[in-house]
Amino acid sequence: MTGKTVLITGAAAGLGKACADLLAGEGMAVAVADIDGKGAEETARAIRAGGGRAIAVTMDVSDEAAVNAGVERCIRELGGLDALVSNAGVQIVHPFEDYPFADWQKMLRIHADGAFLCSKAAYAHMKRTGRGGQIVFMGSVHSHDVSPLKAAYCFAKHGILGLCRVIAKEGAPHGIHAYTVCPGFVRTALVEKQIPEQALELGISEEEVVRNVMLKNTADGKFTTAGEVASAVAFAIKDSGGAMTGQSFILSHGWCMK
Ligand code: NAD
Repeated sequence: MTGKTVLITGAAAGLGKACADLLAGEGMAVAVADIDGKGAEETARAIRAGGGRAIAVTMDVSDEAAVNAGVERCIRELGGLDALVSNAGVQIVHPFEDYPFADWQKMLRIHADGAFLCSKAAYAHMKRTGRGGQIVFMGSVHSHDVSPLKAAYCFAKHGILGLCRVIAKEGAPHGIHAYTVCPGFVRTALVEKQIPEQALELGISEEEVVRNVMLKNTADGKFTTAGEVASAVAFAIKDSGGAMTGQSFILSHGWCMK
């Protein structure tokens, strides 16, 4: 991976940061993109302090001009764009019948518009150079299965599978490959926030949310880890020949087997 460049969205924290740390450790130059510019700078600074190459890019994935400018900056300052990890995301839970339209629109702006805008900008560069590239989307078990309270999230994450598969078909002649990594629950800020919210919505304790909702259907009662997710992202990026293009990789400790 040495000498290759990757842009990762939502890389100030959680799964994106774990990907940034692992890929930098494997020799990639990393554009750490996040709406949280301060957090992105901290992630990039820590990578540089450890001897890696990284820049921070402040960027809202749902803002087309900001995405295009961020991708251009990555190309200009790091010398190219060989891979994209489209990871930025949020979670908003409500029962379907009470789901506010504004929250539905916010979810789709970040997850669906964000994935579209970032992959479109990366795809254009990868095609223009003739060198192709690897596009990895952060899906979820909720790309394949559903849970109560997550209508907008499931809609968006199911949609990412479709976008990924179309890019795999259209991109292959240009050496552009696409993948979706689909984790089960990982204890990032996004999940920590959901535990009390779901306890309130479902009228159960926080411990019951963890045991009887989040980990109920796993084979071993374990959370997926950020390191496991980052390793799967690296595995997809290394598939430069495209044998696995269009695939989704589910990491859920036996919760979802498809
Ligand atoms: P997180 O909250 O720890 O980190 C998300 C990052 O995305 C933050 O740094 C945040 O600032 C950034 N972000 C939010 N909105 C943004 C925007 N509009 N533009 C740019 N950056 C933005 O969350 P996480 O758990 O690391 O989740 C990352 C991705 O993984 C999401 O797409 C999420 O749906 C997916 N995922 C998470 C889990 C899990 O259990 N944690 C499981 C499956 C899938």
